[in-house]
Amino acid sequence: APASRRPRLVPVPRQPEPLALADANLQVPLVTGGTVGYANFDYAASAPAARVAVEAITDLLPRYASVHRGAGLPSQLCTTRYERAREQVARFLGCRDDDAVIFTRNTTDATNLLAHALPAEATVLVFDSEHHATLLPWRRAVRLPIPDSPADAVRAVHAALRELRRGEDAPGPVLLAVTGASNVTGEIWPIAELAAAAHRYGARIFVDAAQLAPHRPVDVAAADADYLALSGHKLYAPFGAGVLAGRTDWLDAAPPYLAGGGATALVGDATNDVRWSTGPARHEAGSPNVLGAVALGAVCEALRTGDRDAAIDRERRLTERLHAGLSGIDGVAVLTLFDAGTPRVGIAAFAVRGLDSDVLAAALSAEYGIGVRDGMFCAHPLTRRLLRHAGGELPGTAVRASIGLGTTTEHVDRLVAAVRRLAGDGP
Ligand code: PLP
Repeated sequence: APASRRPRLVPVPRQPEPLALADANLQVPLVTGGTVGYANFDYAASAPAARVAVEAITDLLPRYASVHRGAGLPSQLCTTRYERAREQVARFLGCRDDDAVIFTRNTTDATNLLAHALPAEATVLVFDSEHHATLLPWRRAVRLPIPDSPADAVRAVHAALRELRRGEDAPGPVLLAVTGASNVTGEIWPIAELAAAAHRYGARIFVDAAQLAPHRPVDVAAADADYLALSGHKLYAPFGAGVLAGRTDWLDAAPPYLAGGGATALVGDATNDVRWSTGPARHEAGSPNVLGAVALGAVCEALRTGDRDAAIDRERRLTERLHAGLSGIDGVAVLTLFDAGTPRVGIAAFAVRGLDSDVLAAALSAEYGIGVRDGMFCAHPLTRRLLRHAGGELPGTAVRASIGLGTTTEHVDRLVAAVRRLAGDGP
């Protein structure tokens, strides 16, 4: 046909779904026969990859090369993408212009890097309720008892800093290390108020955003947080890439976290004649996880520019449905620290009277295709205290159901019905 009569093929872009998961169709074989669509309630441990994460690394995967080192085209491309990922993370976190964004392996690596970089005489204030990654890395820690409310937490920080100041020896630098959202209760901590309290006494604040960042916007500058960490694998990107972001002075003054290539500006011939790099490179020695960083950057960008309000609203409704459903079951204790009005991300930890949590978790998987986590969630003091306060006959560990971008109402209803049946409260 003449060109003028040929139908014009208008390219139709795919519907943008920036917050869609790469695989939403996993089928689980059941012990009772047949299969059922996987109901993932383990996002707080690791979230499956977002489609944008997969797409961001698909073209790099066959031809990735070392960043900052090679002159060839793949090296140039990877360097550009790696540094772009750093900018995407910085924008997502609302970092100040002069903040460092250092790629780490995960949040644990980030807290250990920060602990390593603190001035030698620094004291770290930390609540007993923290995840072990934020509770344990510090050389000199002052442990604060688990607070009863967000306001109580702020008061405790004021009191502890006042006390430290009054002490015989003027304290060196002080850092408050605190989690943005609990990985056990999902409760959101009052970061801006805690930052204001810390700053009032000349202390700094580190925010563990491993659980907060996947669920709520984080704004380092607005919250006046000095440091912040997160894990890519909880943020819909693959394992092995995380972030420590924040003020550069301590980081640039500290010895490199890892000694080796990439962290050096110049190495002389004499032993110890080394000039270390400043900026992120100082703490990123060795060939970095380019693919992990690029995937993480892509997710950060999608979350920042996508309709996050809608995602948050959806998650809020699902979380309320989950909490209300589980709380309504006879024999089930949902573990919360603060009162019911405290904002929370999509997490519900619970225990069933007279039923071991590992047995419950295994039955949820085998009989209902539901994936949860059981145990003490790397927050032993907090989980112990919550179980103790929830009353007798509870097992020594709990089950945690956590919600993410792929959670549906059917998943929540299936979980609640399954727990009701396994708890012996109904047919
Ligand atoms: N902080 C919190 C609040 C967490 O939930 C977790 C993960 O379980 C971590 C830190 C540690 O994260 P990662 O295991 O990725 O280092």
